[in-house]
Amino acid sequence: MNIFVCIKQVPDTTEVKINPETGTLIRAGVPSILNPYDHFAVVNALKIKKSNPDAVVNVISMGPPQAKAVIQMALALGCDNGYLLSDAAFAGSDTWATAYALSSAIKKIGKYDIIICGMQAIDGDTAQVGPQIASQLNIPQVTFADNVEIENKKALIKRHIDDGYDTIESPLPVLVTMVMPKDYELPFPSFVNITKALSKPFFTYTADDIMAKKEYLGLKGSPTQVNRIYPPQREVKTTVINTTSVEAVDKIIEILKQENFIK
Ligand SMILES: Cc1cc2nc3c(=O)[nH]c(=O)nc-3n(C[C@H](O)[C@H](O)[C@H](O)COP(=O)(O)OP(=O)(O)OC[C@H]3O[C@@H](n4cnc5c(N)ncnc54)[C@H](O)[C@@H]3O)c2cc1C
Repeated sequence: MNIFVCIKQVPDTTEVKINPETGTLIRAGVPSILNPYDHFAVVNALKIKKSNPDAVVNVISMGPPQAKAVIQMALALGCDNGYLLSDAAFAGSDTWATAYALSSAIKKIGKYDIIICGMQAIDGDTAQVGPQIASQLNIPQVTFADNVEIENKKALIKRHIDDGYDTIESPLPVLVTMVMPKDYELPFPSFVNITKALSKPFFTYTADDIMAKKEYLGLKGSPTQVNRIYPPQREVKTTVINTTSVEAVDKIIEILKQENFIK
């Protein structure tokens, strides 16, 4: 059984800062991590491997050369093969072009039974890439799962819905996007496993290697056009209430009503 996990390197912050002049992300000084939802997807893939010992877990990421670090991390956690898609042709890709590159690579690498993605990347936050890969490969998709098991060549997926869960049975191949249960503590690899991961199979692919058409990649292949990115304006208003405590409470209630915080 062939499992693919799509993983993205993201800045270690949920408060991405934007340069107001250039409209680009400020990455300097912000350390990078494996996107937490993808980290959880890796953990689930390894759980599937544990109960299906013939399974091979491939991790794949599209990004700059430094994204190799998150692939090494996934290999250290126990994944078998790492693939980095890195090429100037991928730069400027929107989610659709990213999904095209990832699905082209998955097809090129070989047979896929289950593709696991995070629900979303904590920097881009669109939650589009997983469903778009499924659409480009023309396979079923199940989103917002927090557990996937494979039994009798079928995927059993526990999927979050409002106030509960759906249990879904899907034929293979299927794409699943994963969301972590609340307060879940992600495991980190030991030093020994980090060292062992350095000798696991790792491949870097260009657009030509995955036989991707250049017109579907980068800005040219991106149907989304971003006109402007800017941080929201924050206004801080200060009101000093200089009166007795009872009157102050009435005054605070009045202000909260005026500002529509309470009715
Ligand atoms: C016009 C345009 C130009 C852009 N140019 C650039 C650019 O030059 N450089 C740049 O870094 N970003 C660029 N982006 C952003 C880039 O398109 C997104 O970061 C990327 O498509 C992933 O989207 P997301 O972060 O919303 O991921 P989501 O859709 O929220 O991610 C869901 C899941 O998909 C998988 N996934 C997402 N991205 C990857 C990946 N790269 N590799 C493997 N798995 C992945 C992961 O499993 C992840 O959990 C651009 C976006 C637009 C719209």
